[in-house]
Parts: sequence; C-alpha cells; structure tokens
Amino acid sequence: MEEMKRKILVVSHCFFNDGTKLKYENIEDAKKEREQKRDFLRKMIDEGVELIQLPCPEFLLYGANRWGHAASQFDTPFYKEASKKLLEPILLQLREYQKNGDRFELLGVVGIDGSPSCGIQFTYDGNWGGEFAGNPNLEQTLESIERIEKPGVFMEVFMNELKNANVKIDFHTMGSIYETMGG
Ligand code: SF4
Repeated sequence: MEEMKRKILVVSHCFFNDGTKLKYENIEDAKKEREQKRDFLRKMIDEGVELIQLPCPEFLLYGANRWGHAASQFDTPFYKEASKKLLEPILLQLREYQKNGDRFELLGVVGIDGSPSCGIQFTYDGNWGGEFAGNPNLEQTLESIERIEKPGVFMEVFMNELKNANVKIDFHTMGSIYETMGG
C-alpha cells in the first residue's frame, strides 16, 4: 500500500512562542493574534501536518527589550546576512524534504502579516530612526509608519534563499493556507 505523503509546513517562531514578541503591544490585539495562532496550530495538528518552527530573528538579534521597528530599519546588509545564517539549517532541511518528494509535500511557509521581519503580504514602514529624546518632530516621525504591500525583510531573504536553492514552496498567511487546504 502506498504511504501517504507527509505534509511539511514552516511557521514563524511566534506561532508557538509569544514570548519573543514586542512588549507593550496592544493587549486586545495581542490576545486576538495569539488565539488565532493557537487555533491555526490546533487545526494543522488535527490535519496531520508536520510543523517546522523558524527562529525569531528580532529576538535573537535585538533581544526581549528591542523597540518596534519599521521594515527599512532591518533592510541592512548585517540584518540580511544574519537572517541568511539563521535560515541555513531550515533551508537544508527543506532541500532534503524536497529531494524525497515521494514521501514529503512542502505545504508552505506561514508568516505574520504586518511584521517588519515576518510579514508575507504586507509589512509596515516609515521614516523611523534616531534618538527619541532629541527628535523635535517625534509625533510626526511615529505617524510616518504605513502599510506597505511587500514581505518583511526576514521573509524576503528566505524567499531569495529558497529560490537560489531551487526549493519550491509557497508563502502564505494563515488565511491563504486554509484556502489552499480547502478549509
Ligand atoms: S520577528 Fe517574526 S517570529 Fe519574531 S516576534 Fe516578530 S513576527 Fe514573530
């Protein structure tokens, strides 16, 4: 009898661990996002999906007390190079799964929309940076943040690395992966 292919899904780190998220997030929004993520994980487990957790680049590089960032603040050679290194073990695993395509199906990568690192369909960017205390137009600076229809920097690096390694896997939000699975 032919064995069922194992479905492999890669998810952002904070699907499993909200400890890596920024402090002072809006409590209601954070609670809602956590519930959505937990529901999503339960559904994936019930569907028999195998889950790989990505590292959290922001927590690893800037720690638990980092400020919230705009996407372009992470668009630096250092951040991108560090992202590549963090993603290398994941990339190697995905290459191995793809090589054994008779047993595995690469279902997708699911990120966190809005994040400057893990956004998939959109992120946020603005003219942020510098000393808060010395900024004469702080309010204006903070308000310059706006939604941008592009992935976060970590996911952009991941997309490029996968492409270079010829690994075929689609990127999704929680909503779009449900649609793919017919749910
Ligand atoms: S960087 Fe990604 S994994 Fe880390 S807290 Fe933000 S969205 Fe979650």
